[in-house]
Order: sequence, then C-alpha cells, then structure tokens
Amino acid sequence: MPPPSAVSAARTILTRLHDVMASRSNAQTKLNTVVDVIGEGLDSEVCSIYLLREGQLELFATRGLSQDAVHVTRLAIGEGLVGTIADNIDTLNLAEATAHPDFSYRPETGEDKYHSFAGVPIVRRERAVGVLCVQHVDPRRYDEVEIEALQTVAMVLSELIHSADLIDEEQTALSPAQTGPVHLTGLKLVKGLAAGNAVFHQPRITIEHVMAEDRDAELSRVYLAFDKMREQIDRMQAQAEFGVGGEHEEVLETYKMFAYDEGWSRRIIEAIDSGLTAEAAIERVQQRTRMRMRQIDDPLLADRMHDLEDLSNRLLRIVSGQMGTAASQGLRSDTILIARNLGPAELLEYDKRRLKGVVLEEGSLTAHVVIVARAMGVPVLGRVHGLKGALREGDELLLDADQGQVTLRPTPVMAEAFGARFAKSRERQAAYAKLRDVEPFTRCGTRIQVMINAGLRDDMPGLQLTGADGVGLFRTEFQFLVSATLPARERQTRLYRDVLDAAGDKPVVFRTVDIGGDKVLPYLRHNDGEHEENPAMGWRALRVALERGGLLKVQARALLEAAGGRTLNVMFPMVSEPWEFDAARDVFESQRRYLKGQKKLMPEAIRYGAMLEVPALAEMLDVIAPKLSFLSIGTNDLTQFLFAADRSNPKLAERYDWLSPAIMRFLRRVLLSVAGHQVDVTVCGEMGGRRLEALALLGLGIRRLSITPASVGPIKELVRKVDLAEIGEAMKGWLAMPPPSMREALTEWAEARGMEID
Ligand code: PEP
Ligand code: MG
Repeated sequence: MPPPSAVSAARTILTRLHDVMASRSNAQTKLNTVVDVIGEGLDSEVCSIYLLREGQLELFATRGLSQDAVHVTRLAIGEGLVGTIADNIDTLNLAEATAHPDFSYRPETGEDKYHSFAGVPIVRRERAVGVLCVQHVDPRRYDEVEIEALQTVAMVLSELIHSADLIDEEQTALSPAQTGPVHLTGLKLVKGLAAGNAVFHQPRITIEHVMAEDRDAELSRVYLAFDKMREQIDRMQAQAEFGVGGEHEEVLETYKMFAYDEGWSRRIIEAIDSGLTAEAAIERVQQRTRMRMRQIDDPLLADRMHDLEDLSNRLLRIVSGQMGTAASQGLRSDTILIARNLGPAELLEYDKRRLKGVVLEEGSLTAHVVIVARAMGVPVLGRVHGLKGALREGDELLLDADQGQVTLRPTPVMAEAFGARFAKSRERQAAYAKLRDVEPFTRCGTRIQVMINAGLRDDMPGLQLTGADGVGLFRTEFQFLVSATLPARERQTRLYRDVLDAAGDKPVVFRTVDIGGDKVLPYLRHNDGEHEENPAMGWRALRVALERGGLLKVQARALLEAAGGRTLNVMFPMVSEPWEFDAARDVFESQRRYLKGQKKLMPEAIRYGAMLEVPALAEMLDVIAPKLSFLSIGTNDLTQFLFAADRSNPKLAERYDWLSPAIMRFLRRVLLSVAGHQVDVTVCGEMGGRRLEALALLGLGIRRLSITPASVGPIKELVRKVDLAEIGEAMKGWLAMPPPSMREALTEWAEARGMEID
C-alpha cells in the first residue's frame, strides 16, 4: 500500500531524519539508520544509498541488500541503473528492473529477488553526488507520491552528506569528463577568439538548509516572498510604456496568472508542511514541474511551463536573498559568460571591458542577443550541448567562435597553441588600429568611403576608433529589440540625438525600423497573430511600418526633431516598389510640415534613400532613382532572395557564394541603371566587410561601403593596394566569361599582387 500522500510520507520520514541528523552518532551509523527510516516509511524491502567516491558510485548503506556489498559494490557514472540515474540526474521508476537496458547485475548484493526499482539522484550544486533507491519484491511501479517523497528525502540527504563531509566535493563529485579538458562544438554565432573563466549568467542558488527548524518561520518567509514577487510582476505590467491592448499585455497576463496560481503556492506550502525550508520547498516543487514538463509533448504547454519555471527561479532568488544575475555582482576581468539563453537587454547589462565571450546552450543566428553581441564585438558560440554537465563556475575556457568550438580546462599545450593564434589575431588588430587616421585612397588615388554599420549608442565610439567616414547604416530596430516595450517617442529622439552628437560632422544614415519577420517583438505582432511560414519574406520592415502608420509617424517625428539644425539622412528598408518609398517619404514630409507649424527647429536638409534588398526594385530603378539621394544595397537580404536561400539557415550558408557571377552581374546591372542619376550607391551588407568580396565590389564600380567596425582596418588596408582600373578590367573579363570559380580566380589575382585576403 502506498502511503496516503507525499506530504505525510515525507513528513514522517523527515521528522525521523531530523532526529537522526541531530544525534551524535557518526556519519556511517547515521546513513545506516537513514536507509531503515526510508525503507520503512516507503514500505520497501530495500533502501540503498550510493555516494560518489573517487568518481565511482559506491554503496554506502543499505537495508535489504547484502551488508557484504557495502563499500564493495561500485558503479561507474552511467553504469547500471544507479549510474544512469546519476549520469542523467533523473529519476527512474521501474516495475521490472531487469527489463531496463542499463540494468547491470551485481551478484554480491543479492538483489535478484527484487523486481520493482525506484531511484532518485542526490544532487548538490546541480551535480549528482549520489543515488537513493528503493526496491520491492512485487513488480509494481512506485506511486507518484512515493517518488515525490523519495525526492524530498534525497534533498535532505544531500545536506547530511555535505555536513558530514561524506564526499569530497572537489574530487569525487566529478567524473573525468568534468575535470579534464573537453572540447565542445557549437554554432558560430559571432566570430572571434576569447580566453577567460566561466561565469554563469544566473549564478546557481545554493540551498544551504533543507530541513526546517521552525515551520512557521519558513511559512512566513515564503508568504513574504510571494507578495514581493507578485508586486514585481504588477509593477512590470504597470510600467508598460504604451496604451492598453496589445500582445505584451497578454504575455504579462499569463505571467501574472501563474504568479497568483493557488495550486502552485499550495504545493510549496505543503512541502514546507512536510518539514522543508522555504528554499527547499520551492526547489522541490520546481523539480516536480520539470519532471512533468518532460512528459508533455505540447509545445504551447511547454512554453507555459517555462514561464512557471522562470517565476519559480524569481521566487527562489527573493526568498534566499540571492538576487540578480552575474552582471549585478561585478565581473572578474576575463569573463566568458555561460547561459542557456539571454535577452539582448540582459547582455547589455554586462561590463563590456570584462566580458570576453558568450557561450549559449541555445541561441540562433537571428537571435536578438546575437545581433547585440556582434555590435558589442563579443564572440558568441551557440547551441553547445552538454555544457551544463561538463562545466563548473570558474573553469578556464578557450573560446574559438571562428572554428565553432570551446575548450574547457585546456592543457598547457592547448593553451599555448590557442595563445599563439590569439596573439596573431591581436597583432593584426593592432596593425589595423594604426590605419585609423589613414584615409582609404586606392593606389590609383581614388578616395573610397568606408563607413560603419551601427545600431546602439554603444557602437558610436567605434566611429572614432576606426576612423570610419560615418555611419552608413544605423539599424534603428536595435533599440526596439532591446526594449521590453515599444520605445516611446522621447526615448527614440534622445537616442537619435545622442547618435548624431557622437558622430559630430560625420554623416549618419538612419534606417527606419526593420522589425517583423524574424526580428520578433513580443509587443508587436501581426494583427491576426498568424504564424508566418517564411518570415524573411513576410510582414516586416517597411510593410509593417506602412501598415502600422503610427509607428512610422512616431519614428519620423523623433528623427526630424533629433536632427534639428543638421542634415537628416534617412532610408527605408525592403522597398519592393517605388510607391512604398513615396508613401514612407510622405509620412516624413507631413511630419515635417507639422513640426514646422509648431515652430520647431527643423533639419537643414533631408536626404531620402532606399535600400535595395528586394530584387524587384532593381527593375524599377529608372523610376525611383530620380527621387533618391542615395541607394544602399543590402546584400544580406538581396542575395538570399536572389538565390532563394534563407540567410539564417546554417545549412544553406555554403549554398551560394557572394562572389558568384550571378550576384556580380546583378550588381553591375544595378550600377549601370543608376549611372546617369545623382545617386550615391553604397553596399551595406556583410559582404562589403570581407576583403575578397570588397575587392570584387570595387572592381564593379562600388565606391562606398558600410561595414561592421571590425572590418574597417582590413578593408582600408586592402583599398590602399588596389588599382581600380586593373581590377575593373579583370572583373569585366570574368563577368563576360565566368571562370569555373570566381573566388579562386580572384584569390589568385589578389595574391599575385601581394594582397592579404583571408
Ligand atoms: C541587408 O539586408 O544587407 C542589410 C544590411 O540589412 P539587415 O542585415 O539589417 O537585414
Ligand atoms: Mg536587410
């Protein structure tokens, strides 16, 4: 018969364990008593405790198995049922133990007569330091309430084991895979190299005490924490900067619903009732939620569970007073940040000088945090599996996001090889820095405009550091991406004004928001909330801005006001047809008239531009060009549309080459189409920052590039070695009769002229 409830089973056991722990007997005697208490409490013939010693799980105490096996039976992590539990840090509940593929029979234990088996990991600091299991002669699965009681007891045991010094946490809690060097691979999200020590974004909360001394005191602590957490959520909701209605409210509403969920608080109170401290009770209920989550196959429900987990962490932090992320605790000088995932705003909270790299368990190329990290110049490796199990806070790490790998606890030889590569790359950086004040004239004497792409206030120092000619693309959506709510007009104006101030007399080209599609904002979704199959070609950029007229109007006003007394350069993204450009410009012009009526300080001039990202616009250049001051070719989007190859899909990254004759011919045609007009043409896609690609663009006739700040040095260096007539001739020949590989042809050509083109 299973006990009536987890609460009473756990309470009975915990009361008795409390006495055991308080007794003056030695640790081994305590463990021997513990297995009896649990065995009786859960009506099981067998109860055993295995603890980690020298990397192996050793039978430390048992009721029911042969006493001769104590301190004799040892299992490696991953070996047998016990080893599997420790390895996966997960519960097993089996009606027939021998039927499990990982079952490994140890004759000295005499366990062959027992059929059912249930085991839970004993966890300390998120690592399994042992396993607690029960066995029964009847082939029955243990009840959920019994498993819960077992898990509660395991938490208490973890405290006993720690306080009795039964395991050497440094040595025994870690398998060789957790102490020796390990290479892990992942997705290259932001390239670069970094060496440093692991810092967890969310420092692990250490629960020091599991068993409560004073139940009422624990209850009042948890009630207070609930109040505080609910207050925080209510405040978040009240702080939403814009009017009522909209999806952000729904999101917060769901959050709030969980925060006030009575079932959740009741379970925590029940766990405290059973004898746990507030922290242990919250953790206990969270474990249960996690277990359930794993059994749920509904992504929508799993999402909701994720919210609950978030709240549970918040509550745990409040109750334990261990608030804040690593950002608020001050970083050590060389930090490699480890997180499951990060929000862009969370990343921005870190001290840029100390943060050297980021490693994420999740993450994708289009994640907002990646866009921000790129802007900050911090390398990021994503989708790294097995990180949590292999890494400890403070471990030394070598992050090589160029090669897509991270080395944990490197050997001196590994560190030396990495150091050499790193030094070389730094040397190169230093050489580029020297080019800061050197103007990029070609060998034949033509001045090339080299500008930077930016998106945050923090990017602006890059302008001085690189000596670039201005900001050729300011992605205004970054501000939207890092905000929890739609940035109010005043905030936008302040940012644009700060950016213009920082740029001084160098030009800044503001691009109106390119949101929607893959750059999802929780507070701005499609009216009907429909999921888009193909977001890059979906409801994004100018399409959103024109449909949500208010959005563009507010931005136009903010830009016009910020640029009072100076020149405003503004361009529109994803223009597909000339009328879209007209409509967007009309929004600006009507705002200009309005502001003039208000006697506000107006921009001295407004220069309008369009981005060429949608191939269709290339056929309409004769129509649109007379209206433009400039045209900016966004090759990131343009090429994905030309080749029908999703730019954010890593599988397609090698599918086409920016140097393909098709792209080159297309760009040449664009240049010919606007040749007779007074239109400045810039390339602002990533390709302009790569030397071989930039060389080809110069050969086509491009004279203005807007690129990532880190590329300014390398591109300036290249420009100074180029003779435009010579590369122009070569390109002409290759485009008339394309060689088998344009890349190879160009590489050979450049190398023959002593140009570095890596
Ligand atoms: C582009 O598409 O090339 C571009 C510069 O815009 P974004 O990368 O922001 O889409
Ligand atoms: Mg684009």
